Amino acid sequence: MTRTAIVTGAARGIGAATARRLAADGNAVAVLDLDEAQCADTVRAITDAGGRALAVGANVADAASVERAVARVAEELGAPTILVNNAGIIRDNLLFKMTEDDWDAVMNVHLRGAFLMSRAVQEHQVKAGWGRIVNLSSTSALGNRGQANYAAAKAGMQGFTKTLAIELGRYGVTANAIAPGFIVTDMTRSTADRLGVGFDDFIAHNAKEIPVQRAGYPDDIAAAASFFCSDEAGFVSGQVLYVAGGPRA
Ligand code: NAP
Repeated sequence: MTRTAIVTGAARGIGAATARRLAADGNAVAVLDLDEAQCADTVRAITDAGGRALAVGANVADAASVERAVARVAEELGAPTILVNNAGIIRDNLLFKMTEDDWDAVMNVHLRGAFLMSRAVQEHQVKAGWGRIVNLSSTSALGNRGQANYAAAKAGMQGFTKTLAIELGRYGVTANAIAPGFIVTDMTRSTADRLGVGFDDFIAHNAKEIPVQRAGYPDDIAAAASFFCSDEAGFVSGQVLYVAGGPRA
C-alpha cells in the first residue's frame, strides 16, 4: 500500500536522508522546506530511484503556510498519514548574550512548527484510522552549554510527542521522537565554524567522546525514522529513541 509522507526540512541533512529512506520504503514523499527550489536535489534522488516525490515550499512556523502546504500535498500526492517533524535551526549563545529573537526563532521553528504541522496532518490520519508522527528531538534536550533555547525546544518536543501518543493512539496514530547525538550535517558544520574549528577536526574530536567511536550520519537517523513509520511499529508509541552511538550525549 502506498502511503503519503511529509518530511519537513528535507532539502538537506537528516530530513533529506529520511525523505529518501521513506520513499525507498514505498511511500510517496512530500519534500518540504522553506525554499521549494532547494528541495530539487532530494526530489531528484527519489525519482531517479523510481520513487514519487513532490517539492513543497513552506514555513513550518507559519499557520497559513502550513495549511496551504498540507492541502497541496493531499491534492497532489494523496492524504498524508506519515509526518516527520524535522525542520530545525540553531541560534546558539550563552544565556547572557542570548537575544529574544534567538529564543523566539528556535521555539517557533521547532515547537510551533511541529505543533502546526501535526495539527494539520492529524486530520488526514484520523480519517484514515492510521498514522505515524516522528519528531526530531536531540541529546541537547538533556542540557547543552550555549543552547538554552534549543535544549528547551528539544525537551519540549519530547513532552509534545508523548501527548500526541496519548491523544491520537485511539485513531491508530503513533507518535515517537528521535534524539540524535552528533550527526554530520550543515548544522554541525555551522557549529564548527562558530567555534573556529575545521569541520574534520571537529568531527574527529566529537567521535572520540562517542562510545562507538564515530560520528553519526543522516542515514543513521533515517533508519530509526523508517522503523517508527513502519506498520510493524504500531505498538511503539510515545517513546524517545536516543540515536547517539551510546547511552548519553
Ligand atoms: P540542517 O542541515 O540545518 O537542515 C535543516 C533544514 O530545515 C534546512 O533545510 C532548513 O532550511 C530547514 N528549515 C529551517 N527552518 C525551517 C522552517 N521554518 N520551515 C521549513 N524548513 C525549515 O539540519 P540537520 O542537522 O539535518 O537537522 C535536522 C533536525 O535534526 C533538526 O530538527 C535538528 O535540530 C535535529 N538534530 C540535528 C543534530 C545534528 O547533529 N545535526 C543533532 C540532534 C538533532 P534552510 O536551509 O532554508 O534554512
